[in-house]
This record gives sequence, structure tokens and C-alpha cells, in this order.
Amino acid sequence: MNLTDEEVVIVGGGPAGITTALTMITANPKLKNKIVVLEKDIYPRDKICAGAISYQGIKILETLNVEFEVPFVSIKGVLLRSSIGESSFIYMDDYIRVVRRIEFDSSLANLAVERGIRIIDGVRVNTVEEHKQFVILTTSRGLLKAKYVIGCDGVGSVVRRAMGITKKNLINMQALEVDTEPLMEDYDRQLLVFNISDRTFSGYTWDFPTIINGREMVCRGIYHIQWRNNKINLKTKLSDYLTSIGLDINNYQRKYFSVQAYNPDEVIGNERMILVGESSGIDPLTGEGITQAIKYGYLAGYFTADVLAKRNTFTEWGKVVRKSSLGRNLSFSIRLIKYFYGAPRPVVEKFLINYNIPRTKGYEFVIAYLFEIIKFFNTVFSAITISLTDRFTTRMRLIKKI
Ligand SMILES: Cc1cc2nc3c(=O)[nH]c(=O)nc-3n(C[C@H](O)[C@H](O)[C@H](O)COP(=O)(O)OP(=O)(O)OC[C@H]3O[C@@H](n4cnc5c(N)ncnc54)[C@H](O)[C@@H]3O)c2cc1C
Repeated sequence: MNLTDEEVVIVGGGPAGITTALTMITANPKLKNKIVVLEKDIYPRDKICAGAISYQGIKILETLNVEFEVPFVSIKGVLLRSSIGESSFIYMDDYIRVVRRIEFDSSLANLAVERGIRIIDGVRVNTVEEHKQFVILTTSRGLLKAKYVIGCDGVGSVVRRAMGITKKNLINMQALEVDTEPLMEDYDRQLLVFNISDRTFSGYTWDFPTIINGREMVCRGIYHIQWRNNKINLKTKLSDYLTSIGLDINNYQRKYFSVQAYNPDEVIGNERMILVGESSGIDPLTGEGITQAIKYGYLAGYFTADVLAKRNTFTEWGKVVRKSSLGRNLSFSIRLIKYFYGAPRPVVEKFLINYNIPRTKGYEFVIAYLFEIIKFFNTVFSAITISLTDRFTTRMRLIKKI
């Protein structure tokens, strides 16, 4: 196979990589011959993931004329369990879809191939070296020269390393999951269940209905954000949860993977390379990353088409992401972590359990929920006060130590 001179190389054929390619050819169909996607695994390949894709991701795929040709569980809302009670947030039918990544990712890749995009699977990119006018990639099938490289290669991104982003993030996230049979006690299969009742770690356990080889199953897992050195043993915690519902963790295949957070201060684009999807970073508060990868890809597709048309560089990418709703939401999520999982947690839980505001918009919303809004600001105010007091007492403790 000839892997020599390419215009745009997309490293990684997950949701970020394929959405980028599909968007590029939607922006300009002539780009079809100028893109190659390199995927290290061979499709159908799996990705450790619970597979919940939310509304905005589904909508972007619809814009790109992508139909879901794989089995999925249709979800209408979320049930939140906490130490002070439960609350369900019902959005609308089919608000979220739970897929199996082994099926979903290959179906996306097949569709891209049908639309004329070159995807070469089974090719691992080992090193990436940027020069003034081009980038040299060493792959498992030889050398490759590219004008532009788009790093869609997930958590352990080789492109990210090549761009010099080596420093460890302040926030570290891990997840562990198992697929089990459903239980009589499980909730409605149209709900995703998040359980935040254990306050000894910064995260949640989840129970997502899923469908494996035509069988109704449940993907159950644990997500933990490591910050302020709060390490935990994921297996023990998940085992405790499973035991509480009558399941033994040892009976199931455990699937562990880390998750990478977005950091608005990182340089995710230089002259010839950009990071897209989880290689750049996803939502650290929830660990949600598929919809984010799709949003990144959509943004990157149009951005790249524009760069190619103007023979420009990729240097504006970081700014484009920061200014987009994606970047703003991700940055907001980072700020929320200390409220959600820090000292104000009891207040936040109380708010989430008690003030379930339906999703109406505009004038009607303000009139109908004015009272709720006042209560909301009151809760936010007390959360901020608790956070500031916490920061002050920590500082005082430090001063006393010195
Ligand atoms: C346990 C767990 C559960 C999760 N559950 C959910 C969920 O329910 N909903 C949700 O929205 N998110 C979830 N996530 C997060 C989600 O899986 C990721 O954020 C998402 O897959 C990111 O998509 P991506 O395309 O950026 O990267 P990936 O999906 O990781 O794709 C990267 C691709 O690049 C390829 N690649 C990597 N390195 C190379 C290389 N050197 N050369 C060539 N190819 C390479 C990989 O093989 C892969 O195909 C979960 C994560 C974990 C760990």
C-alpha cells in the first residue's frame, strides 16, 4: 500500500475522526480525495464506553445525513439518585440513544467509506514530526508525509504528544464498567440512572440500559474525578455498589479506561496540527465524550475546509474551540467541579433533587418558574459561600502549618 504524500491525515477513526471527515466533505465535496483516516485497529473495533449519545450529538449526525443503522436503546430522561432522595429529569422521547461502540463506530466508518472517504484501518501512527511546510508520520506501514494532521486519536494521543502537550492535567478521570443482566429492581429502561449517593468519591455510579446481540442488558459502571489527590480504588467501589444490588463483580468482565479533560489553557492547534475530540479533552464533570467528539468533529470539519480554501494554518483552532458553545460548555463544566464535588455538594444535591425545572423556554419559563429561579439563585449563592468558606479555612489551615 502506498502511504506517501497526503493533504490531510486524520489520525483515529472514532466519532471525532469520522465526524471530521464527513463534515469536511459536506463543506466541500472536492475534499474527498484529499483526506485519509488512519485507524490503528481493524473494524469492527470496540471502545470501552457506556455508549450514551445525547440529543445534540444525534442532531449533528442528522445534519450530516447520518442515520442510526445500529441497534440502540432510546432514552427519554435521567434518574438521579442521591443520599437525600431521587429525582427524574424527563426531557423528551429519544433524547439520548445508548449504542454499542463496536457497532456504532464501524457503522460510521462504513458510511464514510460509502461516501468516498479513504479509511485505512490496521495502521498505527507511531510518531509525528512537524516541519515548516509538512508533517512526517511514522506508521506501522511506513512513512507518510502530510500537509495537515488532525489528531482524533483519543486519550493516549500520539499527535498530542507530538504537539508538546506532555504536562499532566490537574484533573484526572477514570472509569470502570461491566455489562450485566437486568434486575427486577432496575428502573424504567427509558431512563439513564446516575447514582451520587456515595459522597466518599468525586463521581457517580451508573446503570445504563443497553442491548448486546439483541439481548436487553445493563451497562453498570463507576466514574471518578481525581482532583485534590482524592485517589480511590475503582474496583472496590464498583464492587461495593454491585454487591448492594445483589451482583458479584467477579462474574463480569471488567473494562477500565481513563478519560481526558478539556483544558482551555492548552494549545490544541499549531501551524499544521490540531487536536479534536478526546485527544483535546472532554467534559470532566460528567465524563460525557461522544457528543463532544461529534461536536469537535463538526467544528473541525468546517474549520479545516476553510483553512484549506485559504491556504491558511491551523493556529486559530484553540480560539475557535474556546469561543464555540462546545468550548464554553466544557470550560463551565470544569468550573462546576469544585461546587459539585467539593464542600457545597450537599447544597447542590438538595437543589438537584428538589428543583426539577422542566425544559420550557423564554417568557413562559420566567413567569412560571420565577419562584424557582429565586430559589435557584439562593442555592447558588449558598453554594458559593460554602465554597469560599472552604477555601478560606483551607488557607488558614495552611498558614497555621507554616
Ligand atoms: C468506561 C467509559 C464509559 C464511557 N461512557 C460514555 C457514555 O456513555 N457517553 C459518552 O458520551 N461518553 C462516554 N465515555 C467517553 C467516550 O468514550 C469518549 O469520550 C469518546 O469515545 C471520544 O471519542 P474520540 O473519537 O475523541 O476518541 P476515541 O473514541 O477514543 O477514538 C480514538 C480512535 O483513535 C484510534 N487511535 C488511537 N491511537 C492511534 C494511533 N496511534 N494511530 C491510529 N489510530 C489511533 C483508536 O483506535 C480509536 O479508534 C466513556 C468513557 C469510558 C472510559
